[in-house]
Amino acid sequence: MSAIRVGAATDKGLVRSNNQDRLLVAPPLFAVADGMGGHAAGEVASDTAVKSLEISFSTAAVRSAEALVQATEAANKAVWDQARSDPGLKGMGTTLVAAALVDAAGSEELAVVNVGDSRLYRLRDAHLEQLTTDHSVVAEMVADGQLPEEEAEFHPQRHVLTRALGVEPRVVVDLDIVLPCHGDRYLLCSDGLPREVSEAGIASILRRYDDPTETARELLSEAKLRGGNDNITAVVFDLLASAASLPGQRADRVEKAQPGLVVPPFQGLPGPSGDGSHEVPRALNAMQRPRARIVTFRVVGFFVLLLAALGVAAGGTAWYARASYFVGLDGDHLTIFQGRPGGLLWFEPTVAERSAVTTSQVESRHLAALRAGVEEATLSAARRYIANLEAEWSAAQAANLPHLPVTTTTSGTATSNTTASTSAAAERGAGAMTPARVA
Ligand code: MG
Repeated sequence: MSAIRVGAATDKGLVRSNNQDRLLVAPPLFAVADGMGGHAAGEVASDTAVKSLEISFSTAAVRSAEALVQATEAANKAVWDQARSDPGLKGMGTTLVAAALVDAAGSEELAVVNVGDSRLYRLRDAHLEQLTTDHSVVAEMVADGQLPEEEAEFHPQRHVLTRALGVEPRVVVDLDIVLPCHGDRYLLCSDGLPREVSEAGIASILRRYDDPTETARELLSEAKLRGGNDNITAVVFDLLASAASLPGQRADRVEKAQPGLVVPPFQGLPGPSGDGSHEVPRALNAMQRPRARIVTFRVVGFFVLLLAALGVAAGGTAWYARASYFVGLDGDHLTIFQGRPGGLLWFEPTVAERSAVTTSQVESRHLAALRAGVEEATLSAARRYIANLEAEWSAAQAANLPHLPVTTTTSGTATSNTTASTSAAAERGAGAMTPARVA
């Protein structure tokens, strides 16, 4: 067995209240799980998964790639059974990425299993490469050419998984067989790391630090420095040159498992025929079912929040659209409308009050503003505005009247009816010559 040097670290980050990530360091087996589910359910899911994985793999008759896949399927069943046994844990699930050095016809291979969006990276000859494929909506859109890779990190569904452990009784496990070389450095991590740190940043830290524990801690520090929005976990292990079975340099070769087709036949999960074989149709169905379930698992919550946000936004818009008045024209009459001039979205203004004042009773310089609508905060403010316009016009009319001769009456009062009404109009206009506000 190869000599391995390993270091690991995990942190809840700067935003989350608890850490739902779990890691496993049990050479030659290493794993990272990222739990999900309300309250403590995510922690239970990831904890259950890594413990089940370790027990199943360590007790396998032969530590092979097939044994690692079986252990992952057993972990899936363990999480599924636990979620069904406790209503408080319903819907919980977890990602799982694991790597193990396994026997393969006298030499060693690195078997890698993956479900979800936790990742395995390899640093070889200073070059970093992601060896696992994310099971997420965005990753599949990028793979299908529906989404440019540079837009993936900003996509609203970037955290929606298409596959996870524990949400269905069966799960399809991706299996990669990697031919290891001494000097290889491997990194298992939860999505909290690549979410914050670019691949170039991760590679830089993996190259810069020698000690795996120090390296793992530095990766976490960098992720927290850049936001720490999620739990962060890193397991770093180096393959040293002392192993006789490990060649010095071999051409890189990654054997990629075909999802749903390469889950190898194994004992213990009998098919419908009861002969213990693992049937491809069942595996294909298993590949499809988790996708539907997981999308429901997170997307339902997303859409509930989205609908709530849209409801609040619609209510706020309706309130804003109807909370104001404006003075405009309805034919020749000055009219008070409720709403916003010109309307807002589908909220059209409605007539609140039609005044007797016409455009012929308003100074012409106000007409353009009236046609556009002069906003007032309240109905009474709108009424005052119309009254002011009328008063201003009346005062102007009075000022333009020719002065009539004073008529002396027997009582000695030095006013005529005409001058009295003029004075009254001027007095009413005094202090109200300027309309309240002209938009
Ligand atoms: Mg996470």
